[in-house]
Amino acid sequence: MKNANVAIFVPNLGCPHACSFCDQREIAGQSTIPTPEEVGKTARQALSQLGDSAGNAEIAFFGGSFTAIEPVLMRSLLEAAAPFTGKGGFKGIRISTRPDAIDANILTVLKRNGVTAIELGAQSMDAKVLELNYRGHTAHDVKTASALIHAYGFELGLQMMTGLYGSTPETDKATAQAIAALSPRTVRVYPTIIIEGTLLARYYREDKYIPQSLDGSVKLCAELLEFFHKKDIQVIRLGLHATPSLEESYVAGPWHPAFRELCESVIYHKRAEKALEGLHRGLRSVVLYVNPREISKLAGQHRKNILSLEEEFNVKIKICGREIPEYAVEAEGME
Ligand code: SF4
Repeated sequence: MKNANVAIFVPNLGCPHACSFCDQREIAGQSTIPTPEEVGKTARQALSQLGDSAGNAEIAFFGGSFTAIEPVLMRSLLEAAAPFTGKGGFKGIRISTRPDAIDANILTVLKRNGVTAIELGAQSMDAKVLELNYRGHTAHDVKTASALIHAYGFELGLQMMTGLYGSTPETDKATAQAIAALSPRTVRVYPTIIIEGTLLARYYREDKYIPQSLDGSVKLCAELLEFFHKKDIQVIRLGLHATPSLEESYVAGPWHPAFRELCESVIYHKRAEKALEGLHRGLRSVVLYVNPREISKLAGQHRKNILSLEEEFNVKIKICGREIPEYAVEAEGME
């Protein structure tokens, strides 16, 4: 089941860092700090709209380094959200924070105030990449915080970025492996986008940083998506959300409004190729079966996958829905 969260952004609050890629206000699409009253109002409204299905959703504090904000303020935001969780309410509270802003005391406060899931912005597990992008924490911090989060019984989520300054597809794949080894329940993967006002924007203009191409990023992220899928780790986000402020501050980089779908189409193309290779040649037409919800991903944008497969295998292809698992493709030949 997909996470259906009520997101409350806490922009750049308490964050003493200046990561190369981050202008949190732009990404969050707002620059004001929510008050406890606003948190309560948002949660109440969402609860009345969602009704019983709120039991599958979480109240999510995103956008900054939640556990690094002033402790009294952090507690007041959590206390405003907590009454809307539990029986008849949301299933819990999700927060995102930095790996070096987690310790036993903080986890105790989070536990007491209804937090159930913690996401860490790992971004990379490569020492050089972390340093070059001024993350201000180490891969060891990610490992230590992840172990502590598990020990306190929270759900662990990890976030990584691809295409950071100084990274390569190989270091990004190694990051994915290192992250998977920490057994998160969920992962978010963000291809690096250059945002106005960031260090990367300056590097880009000085020709010091070249962002990944959209094609290169889609190819890499398709591999990562397949990798996490095989490890049974849910990728709950792939690519940044489209927001008006992001579109305004976008400078360069592999951004696409349907980025995940592009990656999934790459996976389906590969799976379809494999299924077609299993059939004997000389068929005039073939039916490819896929889960009904995934038909458009197998077909690809503007039927790109179908056209290229028809050319590669010299066969007419039809797609039909069948209740089979996500990413599975079955092929049946027709004489
Ligand atoms: S730690 Fe998070 S909020 Fe702070 S600058 Fe880095 S990415 Fe932005």
